[in-house]
Amino acid sequence: MTDEIKKDFIREKVVADVASGKFGGKVVTRFPPEPNGYLHIGHAKAICLDFGVAAENDGVCHLRFDDTNPSAEDVEYVESIEEDVRWLGFDWAEHLYYASDYFEKMYGYAVELIKKDKAYICTLNTEQFKEYRGVPTRPGKESPSRSRPVTESLDLFERMKDGEFDDGAYVLRVKIDMTSPNLHMRDPVIYRIKKEDHHRTGDAWCIYPMYDFAHCIEDSIEGVTHSLCTLEFEVHRPLYDWILDALGIHHSQQIEFARLNLTYTIMSKRKLLELVEGGHVTGWNDPRMPTICGLRRRGCTPEAIRAFMKHIGITKVNSLTDTALLESFIREDLNKRSLRVMGVLRPLKVVIDNYPEDQEDQIDAVNNPEDPAAGSRKISFSRELYIEQDDFMEDPPKKFFRMAPGREVRLRYAYFITCQEVVKNDAGEIVEIHCTYDPETKGGDAPDGRKVKATLHWVSAKHALEAEVRLYDRLFTEENPADESDGKDFKDKLNPDSLEVVKAFVEPSLKGASGGDRCQFERLGYFCVDSEDSTEEKLVFNRTVALRDSWKKMQGKK
Ligand code: ATP
Ligand code: MG
Repeated sequence: MTDEIKKDFIREKVVADVASGKFGGKVVTRFPPEPNGYLHIGHAKAICLDFGVAAENDGVCHLRFDDTNPSAEDVEYVESIEEDVRWLGFDWAEHLYYASDYFEKMYGYAVELIKKDKAYICTLNTEQFKEYRGVPTRPGKESPSRSRPVTESLDLFERMKDGEFDDGAYVLRVKIDMTSPNLHMRDPVIYRIKKEDHHRTGDAWCIYPMYDFAHCIEDSIEGVTHSLCTLEFEVHRPLYDWILDALGIHHSQQIEFARLNLTYTIMSKRKLLELVEGGHVTGWNDPRMPTICGLRRRGCTPEAIRAFMKHIGITKVNSLTDTALLESFIREDLNKRSLRVMGVLRPLKVVIDNYPEDQEDQIDAVNNPEDPAAGSRKISFSRELYIEQDDFMEDPPKKFFRMAPGREVRLRYAYFITCQEVVKNDAGEIVEIHCTYDPETKGGDAPDGRKVKATLHWVSAKHALEAEVRLYDRLFTEENPADESDGKDFKDKLNPDSLEVVKAFVEPSLKGASGGDRCQFERLGYFCVDSEDSTEEKLVFNRTVALRDSWKKMQGKK
């Protein structure tokens, strides 16, 4: 995992264009989200590419809200997108734009196309439209409206704009080729009537441009040199080029790359919104969501996301990336920066019978073995402790080396203890275990050199703080929930066990920890204080990732 940027076909093309002086040697890119939802990790791939390519070539990258469809767009989304792009570590400086600011210009360009007899007002209804369009293997038919005189189209277009007609009564289409094998070239619609208010332009417009018409014009107006987008737009590129050529305006180069797909999650704002609205998650920033704000709340760092994006690189082949790979980058980054602390998620009480009741001792614990500058801290040891239930078995199988009756183990940084007795309730459940400790082993080593096979984390019962810990698992039970070819809705593939909440005990050094603080609970994983629900009275932690790196393991096996 190196820091070096992998050369990909897009970066090579941009570097070649700079060298050849195309676009005057300039590089202008843009990240063009539609503000109809929160950004997800897929968008982060585009953001890293758009801003990255610009920065590597002394260019600029614009943040442009592609807000041409009023229906689902909202300022809440605009604000969250700005916050998320900034958090990822990118800066658009003064280059913040809105497609809606170009509505007037777009209208003007549409009028120009009509005047050039390259666009016409069509009256076919939806069914007729479909029938006339044909299918890829069968050419379409020309609409009777195609021969409408220019003056008539100009008049109707103006009256559409003035609100004289109902939604769907007329559309504006460009005149290309109804026999083209590419359906997008069969006289596509470029303007439609939509009597809806827009979150920025209010009721100023009741006709709105279609994506294919708007996007190339937005790029052109802003002088974008390389318009990077995902593969599904490849078939739209001839239309992108046709419109700019027909208008004879600045012509940006559209280049497509494969989108990011991750296993066990989905990458569609529309589907993510369904999860939010259906109450399947607590919100866009639910830590199980693949959104940037969800990942942030879960404890993921922007550095980890950027390193992951660098690693996967840019290709032209659609694929499904293992979520475990992203997790391994999160783990690697958190390993460097997280302080180690102890917390017990499922507590089992341990009483040290030979440790005096009123005694306490201070144990030195290392804050981060990866970072000597992080120093050490004191933790309290006392007669009653908690260890993890999982770390004890009354009747252990051969390969279980942790605590069991009669066995000696090490308590991290503290002492060797030996289990003497198991106490059960009437139902036969283990409620506590009794041990003895060896005072000679303070710090965790025996002067006589004897070894133990396990080191357990622990907290002192009377010193520990209670905390709620949220353990997350995959949001879906299937690798590719978006694939609905099995006839099942993606929501039927939600994992019912994606969240487990436990009442834990954590060491007192965590008192006063605030939202976003990160740590590693030794032997358990990386956690962070929840930014929404944690308070002074009640600590709430999210598990960012468990400690075990299943990705590296998988790679090792190959
Ligand atoms: P969604 O289906 O989630 O709404 P979108 O493509 O409609 O995605 P936009 O807001 O239009 O969302 O996307 C802004 C930019 O992010 C576009 O350039 C788009 O190509 C890119 N993008 C979206 N999803 C991904 C992804 N999964 N991987 C890479 N880039 C993506
Ligand atoms: Mg979209």
